[in-house]
Amino acid sequence: MLDCNADLGEGAIWDSSAGVLYWVDIDRREVHIFDPGTGKDRSFDVGQSVGTVVKRRSGGLMLAVRDGFGSLDPKTGKFELVAAPEGHKPEHRFNDGKCDPQGRFWAGTMEAGDEKGALFRLDPGGNVRRMLPGVSVSNGIVWSLDKKTMYYIDTATGKVEAFDYDDKSGNISGRRAVVAVPADLGHPDGMTIDAEGMLWVAHWDGFCVCRWDSASGKLIRRVKLPTARITSCAFGGPNLDQLYITSARTGIDGEALSSQHGAGGLWRINPGVKGMPAFEFAG
Ligand code: ZN
Repeated sequence: MLDCNADLGEGAIWDSSAGVLYWVDIDRREVHIFDPGTGKDRSFDVGQSVGTVVKRRSGGLMLAVRDGFGSLDPKTGKFELVAAPEGHKPEHRFNDGKCDPQGRFWAGTMEAGDEKGALFRLDPGGNVRRMLPGVSVSNGIVWSLDKKTMYYIDTATGKVEAFDYDDKSGNISGRRAVVAVPADLGHPDGMTIDAEGMLWVAHWDGFCVCRWDSASGKLIRRVKLPTARITSCAFGGPNLDQLYITSARTGIDGEALSSQHGAGGLWRINPGVKGMPAFEFAG
């Protein structure tokens, strides 16, 4: 465990070619690059809350930030806002997101007051599309190995949902629930998929990551952790057979904080199954 004391660690994603893990601290407005080879964790302040990070094929990183989609050059530390949905307000800050197999960047926003957020898609050409309205807390998103299904978590629903996904057009349809998370396991947050097509979900206030059967919706395995707010997970390592897990310490105070070892830390476990490489932004 890397005791990084993140306020709100999130957005873990492995870079297979560089052998590093990217993750973000939303509240501290930081993008982090953890190099397991050296044990060093570098961070970049991007000046506004940052919900997630993905690799960019043309070089550098892409981010979902408070104001929309941005880019970060880790060589210079330069951050630039690239695109935002029309009429997007900063109080609906962007949260989690990932790229689909065609390299389109999907990320969603948070509800604010009575106004819901939405799930958006940034295409490699720069267009931003609203793909799903009525979202409360947009979170984990991942695609099936056959590229026909998109799995998605709006944390407020307490569910993992699935959509039929058309890889060519990027359209989604046929929304349905596949996993209903029982209350004693907290709330579903970030998510990734393993090489057997099973879903790994980080459980906010659930002290765990869980492996869920994407077909039957059944719980296969629960990996317990010593702190409540587990936020995201990503397969990594040279063989993609390790699982990195982020967490948050925000909202954990006093006695709870002293009893929860490593709140805000970054974990690495050996889950006994391999993951799939993450997709890059194609723009
Ligand atoms: Zn999250």
